[in-house]
Amino acid sequence: MVRGDILSLLRFCREKRGSCDTLVALDTSGAGITGETALALAGLADTVRLSLDGPEEINDRQRGPGSYKTAMKAFENLREAGFEPEVGVTVTSLNADVLPEFLGTLVELGCRSISVNMLRPVGRATENPDLQPGKERFRRSVSLSRKALGLSAEDNGDGKPGGSCGAGRYLSILPDGGIYPCHVLHLEEFQLGNAAENGLGPSLHPDGLLARLRRLDLRKLALLDPELADLGESDTCLGRVYRATRNNPQWDDLHLKAIRKLDK
Ligand code: SF4
Repeated sequence: MVRGDILSLLRFCREKRGSCDTLVALDTSGAGITGETALALAGLADTVRLSLDGPEEINDRQRGPGSYKTAMKAFENLREAGFEPEVGVTVTSLNADVLPEFLGTLVELGCRSISVNMLRPVGRATENPDLQPGKERFRRSVSLSRKALGLSAEDNGDGKPGGSCGAGRYLSILPDGGIYPCHVLHLEEFQLGNAAENGLGPSLHPDGLLARLRRLDLRKLALLDPELADLGESDTCLGRVYRATRNNPQWDDLHLKAIRKLDK
C-alpha cells in the first residue's frame, strides 16, 4: 500500500488475468487502508491479508510502533467494505508463547482465514537471529494453538510431498522484473527469468526450474543427506533449508541434478 499506484497495479492484474484462474491477493501491513481505500480495494483484490503478530505490545516490538493499531484499523475498514480480512502471523521468539491466545482473539474478532508461518531467514531476520523461535518451539506453539481452537492435530500439509511448501507454485517478481519461485528463494541460482525483459512465458516452461520444483518430492530429497532431513517435515520450507545448507553437495548444479535424479 505504500506504492501510490497500487490500485492501478491491482486493476492491471485483474484485467490481464482474463479467464485465467488467478487470484489477485494483497499482503499488507494495513498502512494506508482508509475506509475509502478499502472500498476501492473491494472491486480490485480478491483477498487482502494483514500482517499481525500478536497483542499490541508484542506486535509493535516485532513490526514497529503503531503497527498494531494501523492493522486493526485496516481490519475494520476492510470488513466494512465487505471483505473477510485474512491475517498472516509470523511466529518468532517474541510471540511463540502467546500464539494460542492470540489466534483465539483473531477468531473472536471474526477472522476466518489465518496463515501462520515461522520467521523466514530473509531481510531483517538475518540480522536478528535471536528472533528465530526454533523449529520445536514453533511446532509446539502451533500444536497448542490447534488444540485451543478445537482443530485436529493432523498434518497441516496439503498433500504435496514436503507438506505446505509451495515452491514451484508461486512466482515472486521484483521491481526490476527478476522472477523467483518465492521471496525466500530470491537468490541468483533460483532466478527464473526477467519479466521486464522477456515476460513470464520462459519461466513457466513445463521443463523449467519452476515446474521441476513443483514436481520435486522434498521427502525423497530429505533422504539423500542427514543435513537435508528437515525437507521431509510437513512444515518444511525449501528456502530455509537451502539457505542453511547451501554448500551441501546435493545442491550442486543449482540443485538441478537432484531434481532430475528424483524426477525419474
Ligand atoms: S520455500 Fe519457504 S517461503 Fe518459499 S514457498 Fe516454500 S515454504 Fe514458502
